[in-house]
Amino acid sequence: MNVINCLFCQIANKDIESTIVYEDPEVLAFLDVNPKSKGHTLLIPKNHYSRIEDKKDNIDFIEKIKLVVEELHKDYDFKDFNLEVNNGPNAGQEIQHLHFHIIPVENEN
Ligand code: AMP
Repeated sequence: MNVINCLFCQIANKDIESTIVYEDPEVLAFLDVNPKSKGHTLLIPKNHYSRIEDKKDNIDFIEKIKLVVEELHKDYDFKDFNLEVNNGPNAGQEIQHLHFHIIPVENEN
């Protein structure tokens, strides 16, 4: 289910362009337009819900994160990454469609 006027639903529907990192029937991962580091990616469920407590699907986000990271390794030089969820407006969530930030930490040479 998608919600009109939800930016991330529009991205999931391909009504708005994004740079896709990983996609399957359940989730989409795409580059953040305002990245905190190279390869900063957002992972979303394709169906709309705002926050963790609203989750009713069986998506294993940890497994999805591993798949996204595997894809990112093809293009970016990192091992470590930060994983962030701003869950709710008072926690800094600006887009009210659940998303996981995957933020690579560039390898030191
Ligand atoms: P949050 O504050 O956790 O809701 O994060 C929202 C994130 O969405 C921010 O890091 C933004 O840079 C990112 N963002 C906003 N618009 C877009 C867009 N059109 N494509 C990709 N990322 C976006």
